[in-house]
Amino acid sequence: MPFSLSRRAFRCVAFCLSFLFFPCCLFAADAEGLPPFAPEREEFFQPLFFEDGSGDVQLNEEEKLDLRCLLSVYPAIRRIAAESDGSVLLIMADGSRVPYRSVPPAADDVKASMAQPYPPEPLRPPTPAGFAPGRVRSAALLAALYGESQTDVRSRLVAVPFVQGTVVMHWRAVGPLMNVTARLQAALREDPSLRPWLKSDGGFAWRRIAGETRLSAHARGIAVDISARRAPYWRWSKVRPHPLQQTYPAAIVRAFEEEGFIWGGKWHEYDIMHFEYRPELLCKARVTQGAAAGRGAGEAPTGTGEGNTLPCEGL
Ligand SMILES: [Zn+2]
Repeated sequence: MPFSLSRRAFRCVAFCLSFLFFPCCLFAADAEGLPPFAPEREEFFQPLFFEDGSGDVQLNEEEKLDLRCLLSVYPAIRRIAAESDGSVLLIMADGSRVPYRSVPPAADDVKASMAQPYPPEPLRPPTPAGFAPGRVRSAALLAALYGESQTDVRSRLVAVPFVQGTVVMHWRAVGPLMNVTARLQAALREDPSLRPWLKSDGGFAWRRIAGETRLSAHARGIAVDISARRAPYWRWSKVRPHPLQQTYPAAIVRAFEEEGFIWGGKWHEYDIMHFEYRPELLCKARVTQGAAAGRGAGEAPTGTGEGNTLPCEGL
């Protein structure tokens, strides 16, 4: 397959180049980071394994899907534990514990961060107030996956070539971004008019979200902004909703979504330049779409229509 060959060659070259930028890209060779874990179909639907001593916990179908996606796309999440009060925790590889389901419910636990379904391409639904799938984030999970402090995150950054320019990302998101770049290069060969949309305008930046106190996803090294002059942020634009939320090139959004990145153009508080590595949301969307396409409950999904792919393969 010419595409997969060129993709492999591109990743090889990109990694070699990244060594010139940061010695810390040695992290990128860690088997836990690359390639992203692709679950076997049977493995994905096996009963969830709880830590020894966990009580009898009741989970609804959506919670089970959330947990299966989290375990599939983040190898650093090793197990699940339940507390006697009904709360559910993710146990990380280093033993730290991240609340998935809090009791009483919390607005920023992992369950809340996955509650609003993300609509993958070709879906571009209206974005009324409150519609912002993925804009709620679990700070505890992001800290556990990518680093608690600025020093932690900075020690795990890698510079990688993008279509135009270079992006500095957390090593855990480097492989997926390289795959995005290879997809975009292929899309660009098909449609050269995409080029002005594909200029890197920043990856890692230790900062808070504009106008808010929460840390930006850029502070974890999992977000990239592209062609900011053309692709506006809602606070700096008078137009709401913005026409680009419907007309922005689908080939670009699809290239990112296929590798586990969500697009900020699908939020009420739109951020059209912004793509963010949130593979659990794409995993959930794929499995849910598969179920809606007519498969029975508990039956394994058979793909996205572009081949016999697994629900979270490549994310
Ligand atoms: Zn951004």
